[in-house]
Amino acid sequence: MPVARVALDGAVDRAFDYEIPPELDAAAVPGARVLVPLGRREEQGTVLSRRDASDFAGVLKPLRAVEPGDPAVSLPLLRLALWMARYYMAPFGLCLRAMLPPRMRSARVGSGDGFARERTISRVDPGDASESGGAGASGASGARPEPTARQAEILGWLGEGESLLSGFCRTWHVAPETIRRMEEAGLVRIGTRICRRDPLAARRIAPSAPLRLNDEQSAALRAIVAALPPDSGSSKPILLHGITGSGKTEVYLQAIAEALARDCGAIVLVPEISLTPQTIRRFVSRFGPVVAVLHSQLGPGERHDEWHRLHSGEARVAVGPRSALFAPVRRLGLIVVDEEHEPSYKQDETPRYNARDVAVVRARAEKCAVVLGSATPSLESWRNASIGKYALVSLKRRATSGCLPSTTIVDMRVEASPGAGGVPGGGSGLIFSDTLVRAIRTRLEYGEQTMLLLNRRGWAPRVACPACGHVETCENCSVRMAYHRDDDVLRCHVCGAWRRVPAVCPECGAPEQRLAGVGTQRVESVARTLFPKARIERMDLDVTTRKSSHEEILSRFRAGKTDILVGTQMIAKGLDFPNVTLAGILDADASLCVPDFRASERTFQLVAQMAGRAGRGERPGDVIVQTRSPDAPAIVLAAREAYAEFAAAELVEREELLYPPFSRFCLVTVRSASRDAAESYAARFADAIGRDRPDWILGEPGPAPIEKSNGVWRFQISLRGPDSDVLHGRLRAAINAIPANGDISVACDIDALGGG
Ligand SMILES: [Zn+2]
Ligand SMILES: [Zn+2]
Repeated sequence: MPVARVALDGAVDRAFDYEIPPELDAAAVPGARVLVPLGRREEQGTVLSRRDASDFAGVLKPLRAVEPGDPAVSLPLLRLALWMARYYMAPFGLCLRAMLPPRMRSARVGSGDGFARERTISRVDPGDASESGGAGASGASGARPEPTARQAEILGWLGEGESLLSGFCRTWHVAPETIRRMEEAGLVRIGTRICRRDPLAARRIAPSAPLRLNDEQSAALRAIVAALPPDSGSSKPILLHGITGSGKTEVYLQAIAEALARDCGAIVLVPEISLTPQTIRRFVSRFGPVVAVLHSQLGPGERHDEWHRLHSGEARVAVGPRSALFAPVRRLGLIVVDEEHEPSYKQDETPRYNARDVAVVRARAEKCAVVLGSATPSLESWRNASIGKYALVSLKRRATSGCLPSTTIVDMRVEASPGAGGVPGGGSGLIFSDTLVRAIRTRLEYGEQTMLLLNRRGWAPRVACPACGHVETCENCSVRMAYHRDDDVLRCHVCGAWRRVPAVCPECGAPEQRLAGVGTQRVESVARTLFPKARIERMDLDVTTRKSSHEEILSRFRAGKTDILVGTQMIAKGLDFPNVTLAGILDADASLCVPDFRASERTFQLVAQMAGRAGRGERPGDVIVQTRSPDAPAIVLAAREAYAEFAAAELVEREELLYPPFSRFCLVTVRSASRDAAESYAARFADAIGRDRPDWILGEPGPAPIEKSNGVWRFQISLRGPDSDVLHGRLRAAINAIPANGDISVACDIDALGGG
C-alpha cells in the first residue's frame, strides 16, 4: 500500500510515515493537509511526499482524513518551506504553518471547507419536479398540486435563476413559513451558495487608468518587464532605488498589468504599517476583483476567502504584509517587495524569516521576476546591486514636482543657549527651535500642512527624583517607565504595565517627581500653546490601538481638516499628502546612540523617509531637522537624500568590522526566569561555539539591550562570519552540546536585524 510522509504542524522537527487507505489515495498528494494518529492523539500535518514503501520497521498507521480538493501547499512552496527550515534553523512544521491562512492552521482537517454559505431560493419548473430530491418533495404520486393564487404571485416575483432567500423574503414581505410550504409542495427549491466575505465590500473604489510615465519610470518598467516570464530565465532580482515621491508604485502597477496580460499572477508585499486603505485602493482601483488583500486585521473568514480566491485562480494579485509572500498565487510572474529595507519584513518569532530574502529565493525557484523597491535600500541589497548580483534601476527625480525639498539642520545645542529664540520645553531644553516655529507659522498662513516626527510616544520618557536621582522603572522589564498625560499614568513600553506616579519618591521621600525628556504627547501640547488656532492631531501607538483610528486620522489629514500632524515613525512611512510642505524632525539623533551596528542606517532611513513626506505635490517642500549631532553623516546625508554617498561611507565601516553585508550575522538569545541561569547558559553556549577563528567572530555574551522583558531575563551572543553554512554548523553543534533544560529557551536568529 502507498505511504505518505507527513510533516506534523508544530515544533516537532520530524516527519512520519502513514499508510494511505485506498479511499484517500486520490487526495493524499504532496502538499495536502491531513489528519493522522500520533500515539493516542490526533495531529494535523502536511504530506511531504509519497512513496511505495516505508523504511520504518513497525506497522504503519493509516491516515485518518485528507482535506479534499487541490493541495493547500504547492510543490514550490513545500520546497521553500524546506529551505526556510534549514536556513533559519526552524522546525519544518512551523515553516509550513507560516504559509497557511489562520483557519487552515486551526480547523480540523475534513471538518468542512470553511466557506460561509447563504440560502438561496429558485423556482422548480413543472418538468423537473420528478427529479427533485428535496426532502419534502411531494414524492409518491409525482403529481404536483396547482399553486394557490398567493403562491403563483410569489413564483412570479421569483423569475428565473436563483435569489438570496433572506433578501427575497425581506423585499417581497414573504413569511419564511410560506416558502417552506412551497418547498414541500415542490414549487421552489431551497439551496445554498458560498457567499464571499469581502474585506472591501464597504468601500466604493473607482477604477483608475495608468498614469503617464516619465523617462526614468519607463526605463524601470522595461527592465522589470524584461524579467517577467517567459523571458525571466536567468534574470537577476531587480533593486528599484527611487527617491521619495519618484513614482515607484506606478511602475509596480504597470509591471503587474503586463504580468496579468501574460496570464501570470503577482505578489506585492508592503510593510504592515503602510498597508493603509490608500495603498489598497491604488491596487484595487487599477485591477479590480483580481486583487486579493491578505491583512492581519482582516477577520479569519475574510482571510480564508481571500486565500481561496488566490488558490483557485480567481484572484491573481496578492497584496499584503510579510506573510503574503506565501500566497498561493497561480503561475507566479512577479514579486514586488516595496520598502524592502523595512524591519517589519523580519518575523520576530520562529521561523525568524526575512520576507525580502525569502522572496528572492521563491522567485528563483518559480522562475519569476522579483523587484525590491526603496528610497533607502538596505545595505545588503545595495551591496548585492553593486557587485552585480542584483540589477540596479534608479529613479532620481520626483514624478510630480521634480525637485526634492530644501532642508535645514538646526543645531539644538546652539538653540538652547541663552538668548536664542527657541521655545523652552521645561527641564530638558527645547522642543521647538525658532526656525521651526517660524516655518510652521508660514504654513498656517498659507493653508499648507505640516508633519512633525518625534519617535517617542508618551509625555515624558522618564520620571526622576530631583533629590536622589531615582528613576521609575518597570517591575517586569529593565526599562524606564514613560509618563503618559492622557491617562495620567506611568507606562512600560515593553510589557504595557502601568501604575500611578508615586506621590513621593519611593527612595528618599522627596515630594516632587520630575518629568524628564519629551514625547509626542508633550509635543502636541506645546504645539497647541504655540499655535492656538491650528488644528492639531497626534498619531502614535497610544491613539491608533482602536481598529480604525489610524485610518480616520489619516483621512482627516488628507481632507485638510488637520493643519499639523504630530507622530512617531508611523507617520514617516509611505504616506503621500500633496499639501504637506513642511516636515519637521525633532530629536533626529535619538536613534543614533543605540548599541546596534545598524544605528546609522536606521537613522538615515527614518530621517530620509520623513524628509520625503514634504513637497510631494505641486508646491516645493521644506524639511527642518533638529538635532544635537548636526554633523553626523546619517543626518546630514539623509536630509538631502544622498543615499549613495551615505551607503558608500557606511559600507567602508561595515567591511572593516566584518558586519553585514560583509558577513552573516546571527544572534542567539537565551531566556530564563532566572538571571543567573540565563547568564551562565549563555557563557557555556559561547564556549561551545568556540572563540574567534578565521571563519567567525564571536561576540561576548552579555545582557540583551532590554535585559528583562515581561519578567524574563535575556542574554545574547552574536556570531558573524562570511559563510552561513559554517555559522549554522557551529550553532547546531553548540545546541547539541549543551541542550537547553529547565526553563531555559534558546532562539537563534539568522540574519538578525538588530544587535551588535
Ligand atoms: Zn528620591
Ligand atoms: Zn514592562
